[in-house]
Amino acid sequence: MRKIFLFILCLSLSVSQKSISYGTTSNGRLENGVKLPSSGQNYSSYSSIGSILGRTYVNGIVQDITVMAYDSLYQLYPEKRFMYGETGLKNGGRFKPHKTHQNGLSVDFMVPVLTEKGKSIPLPTNIINKFGYSIEFDKNGKYDKYQIDFETIGAHIFYLYNVSTSKGYGISKVIFDPDLQPLLFSTRYGDFLKKNITFSKTAAWVRHDEHYHIDFNVPTKPL
Ligand SMILES: [Zn+2]
Repeated sequence: MRKIFLFILCLSLSVSQKSISYGTTSNGRLENGVKLPSSGQNYSSYSSIGSILGRTYVNGIVQDITVMAYDSLYQLYPEKRFMYGETGLKNGGRFKPHKTHQNGLSVDFMVPVLTEKGKSIPLPTNIINKFGYSIEFDKNGKYDKYQIDFETIGAHIFYLYNVSTSKGYGISKVIFDPDLQPLLFSTRYGDFLKKNITFSKTAAWVRHDEHYHIDFNVPTKPL
């Protein structure tokens, strides 16, 4: 009986340990980081190797927002498929080759794509294309026989924003290739995104065409 009580106590203590983000995305760390689920009914990780290597940790609040947004999207668009990319390390800190992703509040989302027949599929990632990161889309959002599904990116950011704000948090910034942003703004979510989301205005240190990087606005503690 005593053993069972201690077991339940330990279990509840580990569950209740909240993640704490320190510092900034470019100079920070993370306490009690959680690993994003490797897959769900409409989403998956960019790489099982990346997950095993511990490159998909986030603040628990960011995990809740990410998973809830995927669930909402599944209710409305069950045929759409999503994929997330790199997020950060369990304890945060320097996360090469990224310049940020240091305090559990950054997530790379790989662009959802459409096949020539219009079927939604996750970005085809493998070791040769650096798990998707070395794929180059043209200015119309085309790569090989794949087309970026801008409408679905719009819906995704819309839901990430709504889930975040409903929980009292927000989105600080979205980094996405400035040349491709007009195509995102031409979707039905465009006006909403322009009004509510801060997008990168200039080209980032690497082209963000195959993924959109999102920094979530969650309270942090000083480093
Ligand atoms: Zn990123």
